[in-house]
Amino acid sequence: MGKEKYVLGFDADDTLWVNEVYYQEAEHEFCRLLSVYNSAEEISEKLFNTEMQNLKIYGFGTKGFMLSMIETALKLSKQEVSQKVLDNIIQIGKNMLNKPVVLLEGVKNVLEILSSRGYRLILATKGDMIDQQRKLKMSGIETFFDHIEIMSNKSEADYLKLLSHLNLKANNFLMTGNSVKSDIIPVINIGANAIHIPYHTTWQHEEIKGNNALGNFKTLNNISELLDILDL
Ligand SMILES: [Mg+2]
Repeated sequence: MGKEKYVLGFDADDTLWVNEVYYQEAEHEFCRLLSVYNSAEEISEKLFNTEMQNLKIYGFGTKGFMLSMIETALKLSKQEVSQKVLDNIIQIGKNMLNKPVVLLEGVKNVLEILSSRGYRLILATKGDMIDQQRKLKMSGIETFFDHIEIMSNKSEADYLKLLSHLNLKANNFLMTGNSVKSDIIPVINIGANAIHIPYHTTWQHEEIKGNNALGNFKTLNNISELLDILDL
């Protein structure tokens, strides 16, 4: 550790609070609704492909997911899906947008300690602007952050823009997150530091196939171990 304190960046979904589980529940319900048309496995695959095609125009988050579910239902049923089922799909999405915010174990305590020791904390997340703002407000941890960035993507260019905006040097920035693809690799590639805290389940889009692309970063079991890394 150098003398200068790291500025600490945190991912939000599945790093600070529960997220992917809600998507999996929604997808399960969606497959059940459409089970007359195909197997759950096939429906899931079609939904994922539709989401990937739409990512560029919808971005990440629940509203894009809702539209992709509707599109998938129309395709699978050859436009014959009932209005009742379409209404059910919209309800699945709206329920997701009203889910409680459940912090992961240790999060509040760790942020409290880091904040009291004078660390500058940055939240850097993808997703729908309104939904992420809602989750932050409900989370009770918003006040610990000096800056909140809701990003349309987490590429190297996006991180460079964030650092430049905050006037931070890359080697002074330490990002913590659950996604190797979004929170670790691009961060390391721009010369910053990253810590991986895996969540028990990962969205297919965020999965990395093979280990070839992986640089040098630490993996922790939980957020509390971050305090050890920082010698706190
Ligand atoms: Mg995440």
